Amino acid sequence: MRIEVLCTGDELLTGLTVDTNSPYFMAKLFALGEQVRRTTVVGDVREEICDALRTLSGRCDAVLVSGGLGPTADDITAACAAEVAGVPLDENAEVLQSLQARFAKRGLLITPNNKRQALVPRGAEVVLNAVGAAPLFILALGRCTLFFVPGVPREYKHLVDAGVLPRIEALLAREPNRVFRASLLLRTVGLAESHLDARVAPLARIHDQVIFGFRTQSPQNHLKLVAEGKSQKEADAALAAAEHACRDVLGQHVFGEEGDSFGGTLGKLLVERGHTVALAESCTGGRVADLLCTDAGASRFFLGSAVCYANPLKEAWLDVKPQTLARVGAVSEEVAREMAEGARARARSTWGLAVTGIAGPDGGTEEKPVGTVFCAIAGPEGTRVEKNRFHGERGMIREASAYRLLDLLRLTLLGAGA
Ligand code: AMP
Ligand code: MG
Repeated sequence: MRIEVLCTGDELLTGLTVDTNSPYFMAKLFALGEQVRRTTVVGDVREEICDALRTLSGRCDAVLVSGGLGPTADDITAACAAEVAGVPLDENAEVLQSLQARFAKRGLLITPNNKRQALVPRGAEVVLNAVGAAPLFILALGRCTLFFVPGVPREYKHLVDAGVLPRIEALLAREPNRVFRASLLLRTVGLAESHLDARVAPLARIHDQVIFGFRTQSPQNHLKLVAEGKSQKEADAALAAAEHACRDVLGQHVFGEEGDSFGGTLGKLLVERGHTVALAESCTGGRVADLLCTDAGASRFFLGSAVCYANPLKEAWLDVKPQTLARVGAVSEEVAREMAEGARARARSTWGLAVTGIAGPDGGTEEKPVGTVFCAIAGPEGTRVEKNRFHGERGMIREASAYRLLDLLRLTLLGAGA
């Protein structure tokens, strides 16, 4: 099935509004195993909208049109649809009634321009809008089904879910050569994108019903698997086989799937064991704490974080010894160890985690260049410190540091060492 999207609105062409509607529909459609082929954006200009409607209906099985169904003079999509279909606009009694009820409920009088929202091209199917005024209307042009949805994101989402997707599913069910798809996203850490690619490349050749895609959200790297088949069962089976093989070669680099957060998956491991964690952060400035609090329910495992940039605070809050600071400096294995142990002792947590390093761009020396970061993890069986050398600009070094610290704990909990 060929499905395209048409967005209308001057605001989308002048940089005032970013099109957030289309990605919503694209993701939902993708979950049904279909993919939007192209998106077109036009302003509130009659000729442009009519031209786009003619072109798209000529080459598509279905088109989702958004915007231009409001009550104002620039809302002309319904009129354009009628013009292209060669039919008049009729006032739809059901829509008018729901508009009147909507206004009455708010104690408002309906104005003539509000009434315009009850005008739909003759012959169109109408689905009332439970969260707004303008309805969804559906028009067939030749072999193409056009769905007209209001642009207001809340209404758009509601009508896409309630009216558009069920009808697209029904159209898909009638496709003779329908391709079924199943997909999965594996989230990894601790592997560069090129290494991820190299590890799974041989599998991509074997699992030829599956498309392997890569996406970087540094320091996470994601592997997207999309399996195709002549039935859902076939696609699911191809996906399961590829997933199994990928997990095998990626091991514990895989920390989660589509909706998983890094901190949240670590949190689950801690909760399962009844463990708690406290943090001592320097160069990450609270980012490690932020990662741990991404998902609701973090209070079950996360006790808190001491962000100690200045040396006196490392002494006062974390019991780092002044002699250690004077002898080896704040960015050192010893101070990282004392910070982690101090946080653990003060918080009485199962784990104390600490990070201290040079995020740059200044402050590096020959002995301790920018990107030198010590990660320490204090636990029931003692303390381990790891010296890292990260590369990139300040933000990248801080993010890599935060992830590495938490990954040390994740791998320790999984019994993998690190
Ligand atoms: P309309 O249905 O054209 O009256 O659109 C109403 C409002 O919805 C606009 O003023 C925009 O703020 C918003 N809107 C329209 N199209 C989009 C879109 N594609 N993505 C996000 N917001 C949109
Ligand atoms: Mg508009």
